[in-house]
Amino acid sequence: MYIRTRGGLGQPLGTGECSRWEKSPENFSQAIAEHYVSTELKQQLKGERVQCRPDSKVCEVTFPGAITVGVSLVKVPEYVIARPPGEAKARREYNYSCTPQGGLTLERRWYIVRIILIDPTGVFKKKDKLRKEFCAKLQDKFNKMNPRWLNLQSFRFRVGYRSGAPTREEKANFGTLDFPVYLLDTQHGPKTVRDLMKQHKVPKTIKIPTSGKEADPYKLAEDGWKSRDTRGVGIPSGEGHAKVAFIKTHRVFADATADLAQAFVNVTAHEIGHMGNLVRHSASGVMRYPVLLNVDIDFSPGDEGPFLADLRRLRGLRQ
Ligand SMILES: [Zn+2]
Repeated sequence: MYIRTRGGLGQPLGTGECSRWEKSPENFSQAIAEHYVSTELKQQLKGERVQCRPDSKVCEVTFPGAITVGVSLVKVPEYVIARPPGEAKARREYNYSCTPQGGLTLERRWYIVRIILIDPTGVFKKKDKLRKEFCAKLQDKFNKMNPRWLNLQSFRFRVGYRSGAPTREEKANFGTLDFPVYLLDTQHGPKTVRDLMKQHKVPKTIKIPTSGKEADPYKLAEDGWKSRDTRGVGIPSGEGHAKVAFIKTHRVFADATADLAQAFVNVTAHEIGHMGNLVRHSASGVMRYPVLLNVDIDFSPGDEGPFLADLRRLRGLRQ
């Protein structure tokens, strides 16, 4: 027996062990490929032929109608991969587990992009209605960015809220797909911002992957925070993954004239855009500056592509 760890990508589904499957790459691959054909191609077919590489790590399963599905077992026992040959786009990853009777259960793996709204002084703590609307609308905005692409890439956005500050250890250990956003208030000055950046391991210099330009994120943050015009600051991750944003909640409360939740969604989405290496302002969409507060605005097509591409870059980074 062994204990399988899942690296934060969901809990084991069954309690049985899967060694029977793992010892038989042909049967294992056939079951995975049949699951792929059923869930992705919506066809109930039985695999007719299974051919595995000599090392048994990669197999090809052939179905009636000239359908072939490639299965990779290189990541076993963590997860398995299925894809039709030549179509990297439709690749699917599955966590697997087994029932006590030995039945195989496959569960699609999603890459969760976490937007974590951190409220150190409890600005939103008692504003339940506003907070819930803010979180729901923000999550919706990102999940609707390009649903087809997000589905192909198995990305999902999740917005979470926490009141109180994370521990130093937590701050230093946010993951590549985590977007921590601090909801600050009048009492927070440039020093708070600088200290938080250090605790989040933001480096002294960042290099923007698309332009190759270097920038001093600490200077960027100080200028941004001191400027009376800004309602927030978003620090890009550059070629690394450390990124953090700060919202001047007092400014948003003061400037919003109509829908307060919408104003927070727009200001926060704008700073998340900066965190995702959109360093320049755009002529339209949510990356326009100053950010419109009272209308529901999306990222412009010219900003959407690079932002999503940066998610793939972040996923590919080893932590
Ligand atoms: Zn901006």
